Amino acid sequence: MSAGLSFERMGAGLAELVTFVTTDFLGITRGRSVARGDWETGQSTSCGWCPANTTITPFDLIADGSPFGSRGDLRLIPDRDARFRTQAHGAVTAFDIVMSDVSELDGTPWSCCPRSFLKRAIADLEREAGLSLTGSFEMEFSALGTSWPHAPAFSLAAARRSDPFGPAVVAALTAAGAEPEVFIPEYGRNQFEITSAPAPALVAADRAAAIREIIREVARLQGFRASFAPKTAVAGVGNGVHIHWSLKDRNGAQATFDAREPGRVSKIAGAFTAGILRHLPALVALTCPSPISYLRLKPHNWSSSYTWLGERDRESTVRICPTYDAGGRDPGKQFNLEYRAADGCASPHLSMGAMIRAGLEGIRARLVTPPIVDGDPTLMSASELSRLGLVRLPETLDAALQAFEADKVVSGWFEPTFRQAFTAVKRMELKLVEGMDGDTQCARYAEVY
Ligand code: GLU
Ligand code: MG
Repeated sequence: MSAGLSFERMGAGLAELVTFVTTDFLGITRGRSVARGDWETGQSTSCGWCPANTTITPFDLIADGSPFGSRGDLRLIPDRDARFRTQAHGAVTAFDIVMSDVSELDGTPWSCCPRSFLKRAIADLEREAGLSLTGSFEMEFSALGTSWPHAPAFSLAAARRSDPFGPAVVAALTAAGAEPEVFIPEYGRNQFEITSAPAPALVAADRAAAIREIIREVARLQGFRASFAPKTAVAGVGNGVHIHWSLKDRNGAQATFDAREPGRVSKIAGAFTAGILRHLPALVALTCPSPISYLRLKPHNWSSSYTWLGERDRESTVRICPTYDAGGRDPGKQFNLEYRAADGCASPHLSMGAMIRAGLEGIRARLVTPPIVDGDPTLMSASELSRLGLVRLPETLDAALQAFEADKVVSGWFEPTFRQAFTAVKRMELKLVEGMDGDTQCARYAEVY
């Protein structure tokens, strides 16, 4: 291209690309692009992929101990129902991605594909318990590299000083079919949150992956970065990912709400919750999978720190959410619980899949609804904690990985190759940030997430 010829002026001459993507177990969306027309006419139906890609750390080095080397081939199989296309505000070309499954060359789902893992979990929940999960990912992020003046938390000023960021985000997400609901200036400095409409579990996870990328795209076009890292500074406010969930039976009737039960949580949703809490110390290795995730998972951060079911308490890990009952609204239709121990370094598919698997274990074991705890666990005696079943979550990624390896139920959901690949990447990640102070680690993660 000759100097001075802008991309804008080239506009009409550019090819339109559609990208087949997978969000790997690092929560990084990677993929390959083909000409839009080739895919739409069916000339391109999939593309090649390499197993070692999944063991690349966030810092672009393939992990020592990766089960994958230079040999091996896979396919990215795009799901035509999971396309997110938008002409994001100010972009020269459309943002156009299609969520894809990673498969072996014979079409078998690949053992390390998070989306295939989620699909199996959804199918098992349906087959064994006759239930489907409706979910929504509420995601917080920080705007970095802005020159905005300070504005108070949650203020109108905080939203307006970033204009037209909010309107562009909502427009782009709406056009992409991601159904945004509320755009929020959050508590942290230059922190925002986006919520989206509830959807079937797979759609919710696809949307979460797409929403992050679209928000990053809009921010980039407006000259700053949107970071979904769980912390962008040790002393700063954390960016959480909260997964709202409710259950439906085979007839599509809600199965989560029961006004007669404690917290209005139905017996089956209580068993599902108990399964989550039972396996939580191991689950966080998957849902809070970076070294800096554990800077966020601390008491008094409104994140999560104990195996704790709470009612309308933002310190609990599984929160029973409120319903708005005015004007005769049906609480059963709105009722949902919120899993708060997730963050933007995790794959949304893996987080959702692991949560469903843990819930299903609770149903299989016929667990009862855990106690609904009110109070501050950090002020409770050891005997009170144990009476209420409150266990402190792992305080480091290393401890979470040990819990993952020790929980044979959770690690048993995965094939040995997955376990080897996942732990190799995570151990390598720990090694790569070893010796860095917390703020340097946060800065490194904020560059990637
Ligand atoms: N920022 C908190 C977190 O890290 C969540 C605050 C809220 O409840 O919105 O999860
Ligand atoms: Mg929030």
